[in-house]
Amino acid sequence: MSDEQRAIILSKIPIIIFKKPEHNEFESCAICIGDFEEGNRVKLLETCQHMFHEDCIDSWILKSRGNNVVCPVCRADLKLNLESSEISHDALPEIGQHE
Ligand SMILES: [Zn+2]
Ligand SMILES: [Zn+2]
Repeated sequence: MSDEQRAIILSKIPIIIFKKPEHNEFESCAICIGDFEEGNRVKLLETCQHMFHEDCIDSWILKSRGNNVVCPVCRADLKLNLESSEISHDALPEIGQHE
């Protein structure tokens, strides 16, 4: 996988501003083992719903080697997410273009 592909994967992970849930069990980042603090910028992996600090998951993905970028917690393949969103993009029908 090229650096460019890794950058695309990174750019597709949504950034959210962390808010402490009202119940007690709020999560911590498995990469730095730090708790999320109110207002932190975190990235949520849509594939598996795991959350990490923006900086932590960015450097994790950029340091990944080989053909797979996986979730540090459950090893879900993050490239799958990339591929499926690309397919749905290309598959958009072009309606009303017939002459
Ligand atoms: Zn972290
Ligand atoms: Zn995961």
